[in-house]
Amino acid sequence: MFVPELYDLFVRVKQSFDPSGVLNPGIKISARPFTDHIDYVRLSKPCATCAKCNSVCPVYDVFQSEDMSSRGWFEIVTDTNYSYLNSKRVVEACLHCKSCRTACPAGVDVSQLILDRRAEQPNKMAGLIFRFHAQSARFERFLKFLARYQSLWDRPLMRRLLDRLTKPIMRRLAATARLSPQLVLPRLAQRQLRDRYPELIPRSGQAVRSPVAYFHGCAANYFEDGVGDAVISVLRKHGVEPDLPLQRCSGTPIETYGHRALAKEGARVNLASMAGYDKVVTGCASCTLMLKDYPTLFAGEPEQAAAQALAKRVTHISEFVAQSPVKPAMASLQATKCKVAYHSSCHLRAAGVTKEPRAILAGLPGVEYVEMPDADRCAGGAGTYLVKDFDTSQRIVERKRKAVEQSGAEVVATSCPACMIQLRTGLQGAAEVKHVAQLIQEAYEAADRQTGGGPV
Ligand code: SF4
Ligand code: SF4
Repeated sequence: MFVPELYDLFVRVKQSFDPSGVLNPGIKISARPFTDHIDYVRLSKPCATCAKCNSVCPVYDVFQSEDMSSRGWFEIVTDTNYSYLNSKRVVEACLHCKSCRTACPAGVDVSQLILDRRAEQPNKMAGLIFRFHAQSARFERFLKFLARYQSLWDRPLMRRLLDRLTKPIMRRLAATARLSPQLVLPRLAQRQLRDRYPELIPRSGQAVRSPVAYFHGCAANYFEDGVGDAVISVLRKHGVEPDLPLQRCSGTPIETYGHRALAKEGARVNLASMAGYDKVVTGCASCTLMLKDYPTLFAGEPEQAAAQALAKRVTHISEFVAQSPVKPAMASLQATKCKVAYHSSCHLRAAGVTKEPRAILAGLPGVEYVEMPDADRCAGGAGTYLVKDFDTSQRIVERKRKAVEQSGAEVVATSCPACMIQLRTGLQGAAEVKHVAQLIQEAYEAADRQTGGGPV
C-alpha cells in the first residue's frame, strides 16, 4: 500500500512538523525502511478489522469492550500465542448466534473459529449430559418422568431450591451457568411428539413413504410448545403426510460445548435417515442452520457429499409454505386486527431465510404486520446460552423487549422454539410469543371452522 516514494514523503512531512522526533518516536515513521513496519502475520489474516461484526454482536452490545466482541475474539483465537486457559472467559462468552457471519463482508466466521478452539477443550460435564441425551430411550423416559411432576417442581419455591441444588453441576458447565428461577421453562411433554404421531414414523428398514421428512429436532419433540403439531398440521393442509424418520439432535448445542465427534455421530444418523426425501422440513432455526452446515462439519471427510446433498433439501416450514403451489383457505376469527411483529431468529437469518416468514405474516387475515426495530438482532437465548449465562442473556434480551414495546405488537412471532423460550422469559408479558407455523395453523383452522369443517 505504501510505496517507498510515498513513505519518504511521510518522513519529510513528519520531520517538518516534528524535527526533534518527540511524537511517537520510531512508530510508523522512522529511519528504518517502511517494510519493517508491516505486520505480515496480521496482513495474512482475512479480517479487515472493519468492526461490522461488532455492530451486530450481542455480547459486544452488552459489554462494549473489545475483548468481549466478535472482532476482538477473532484476534484472540487466531493469535499465534493463543492459549485456552488464558482466553477461557472470552472464548466461552460467544453465543454462536452467527450474526457476525451474516454481517462480515470478508466472509469470516468468527463463531466457527471459536468452535474450532472449543473443540480442543470439550466441556466434560456437557459431554456426560449429551452422551446421556444420545441414548434416546433412556433420556426420553427421564424427561417424561420430569414432565409428570412438572406441576410440583416448576413452582417459585421449588425452582429456587433447584437453582441451589443444581449449582454443582452448572458450575462444571460454566462459571456463569445456573437454572435461574426466572427462566420460564417450556412445558415438558408427557406424550412426546413421536408418541402422538405413531402413524408418521416409518418402521425400521421401511422404504421412504413420503417426499417430505419432518426433522422436528429436540424441542418440538420434548416440549408441549405447539410447534411440532403446528408444522404437521400445516404440512397436511398442503397435501403432505410427512414422515418422521429416526433422528438425533442436529448437533448445535453439542458442538457449542466442544464435542464435535459426538455431534458428528448424531449427524451421521441424520444423514442416513434423511436420505431419499425430496425435502427435509424443519421448524427450528438452529436445526435448519446446522443441517445446512453439515458440509462444513464433514469438510474433507467421506460424508461431505451426502451432507451437501442434504443441505440443498433442508427447508424451513416458512419457506415450504411460501413455495407451495397449494394455497389453503385462510381466515381470522377475530373481529379486530391483531398487531404482529417478527423476531428474526439469528440461525434462520444465517441460513438465508428472512423474507418468507415476514411475507407470510403480512398475508395472514386478521394480522396487522409491524416491522419492529432491531427485529434482526439476537435475543440472547441461543439454545442453551440462557442456562450457560442467564444474567447476560437477560441483559441482551432487554433491547428486544424495548423494541417489542415500541412496536406496539400484541404478538411476537418467531421461527425457532429456542427463541420462544427466551422471548417468553425476557419479554415479561409485554407480548404473546408464537411460532410462525402456529399462526399459519390458526388461519387455516379458522377457515375450516367458517366453512363448517373441523381442524385438520
Ligand atoms: S471479522 Fe469480518 S466483520 Fe468482523 S472486523 Fe473482521 S472483516 Fe470486519
Ligand atoms: S456468534 Fe454472535 S456472540 Fe459470537 S462472536 Fe458472532 S455475533 Fe458475537
